[in-house]
Amino acid sequence: MTAVLSVRNAVVEYPGGVKALAGVSLDIQDGEFLAIVGPSGSGKSTLLNVMGTLDQPSSGAVVVAGHDVTTLPDRQLSALRGRWLGFVFQQFHLTDGLSATENVATGLLYAGVPRKRRAPLARAALERVGLGHRVDHRPHQLSGGERQRVAIARALVHEPALVLADEPTGALDTANGVAVLELLTRLYEEGTTIALITHDRDIAASLPRRVEIQDGRVVADILESRPAQSAALTRIGAVADGSAR
Ligand code: ADP
Repeated sequence: MTAVLSVRNAVVEYPGGVKALAGVSLDIQDGEFLAIVGPSGSGKSTLLNVMGTLDQPSSGAVVVAGHDVTTLPDRQLSALRGRWLGFVFQQFHLTDGLSATENVATGLLYAGVPRKRRAPLARAALERVGLGHRVDHRPHQLSGGERQRVAIARALVHEPALVLADEPTGALDTANGVAVLELLTRLYEEGTTIALITHDRDIAASLPRRVEIQDGRVVADILESRPAQSAALTRIGAVADGSAR
C-alpha cells in the first residue's frame, strides 16, 4: 500500500513553551478509515491542522501524496491542499446564498475542472451521498444531517487522496450522527480514505483503526481485525433509538 499522508516526528510548540504536538509520527495508507481520538486539549486540532497543511509544524515533516509540504511555498501549498485533500468540519461551513450544487461545486475550484463540468460533477456527488432530491436547496432549507451530507459531497467531489473529518457528528443529534457515520463507512467501503478526528471513544472504537493521542503524543495505534459497522456503531444506534441499557 502507498502512504497518502505521512506525519514524521512533528512538533508544534506555541509561544510560552506549550508543546501541542510533542513528536507525532503517523502514516495513513490508501483506503484506510481511521479515528484520531483523544480528550480535549490532547492535540487533535493541532494535528488536524498540520495534516491538512493549514499550519506548519515547528519541526518535523508532513508528506502528502509524495510532497513534503513543509518546504512548499504558500501558493503551491494551497494547490496541493485543493487537489489532494478534502475537509469536513463540525459546523459544516456551507455558504448560505448558494444551492447545494453550488456549494459542492466550490470543492472543484482548485481541481482544474472546467466551469461547465462542475455542476454535473457536483450533482453526481450529491447523488452519491443520497441528496439527489435536494440539489437546488439552500443550506437553510436543509436539516443538520443533510447539511453535513452536502459538506461531505463537497469534500469528495474532486476525488481527494484523503478526507479529513473534524468531529463531523459533533453538531448533530444522535440519529443524524449515526447516519453520517454510516455514510462515511459506505464511502470508505467504496474506496475513500478517511481520517476522522473525535473525542468520542465509541465512535473511534467503531472504526477499523484508532490512533489515540494524549498530551501531544500518539499513545496507541490499534488496527481492528473486524470491519467497520461493528458492534460499537450498533451500540451508538441503540442509544439513538432508546434501546440501550
Ligand atoms: P484538542 O483539539 O485535542 O482539544 P488542541 O490541539 O486544540 O487540542 O490543543 C493542544 C494543546 O495546545 C492544548 O494544551 C492547548 O491549550 C494548546 N494550544 C492550542 N492552540 C494554542 C495556541 N494558539 N496558543 C497556545 N496554546 C495553544
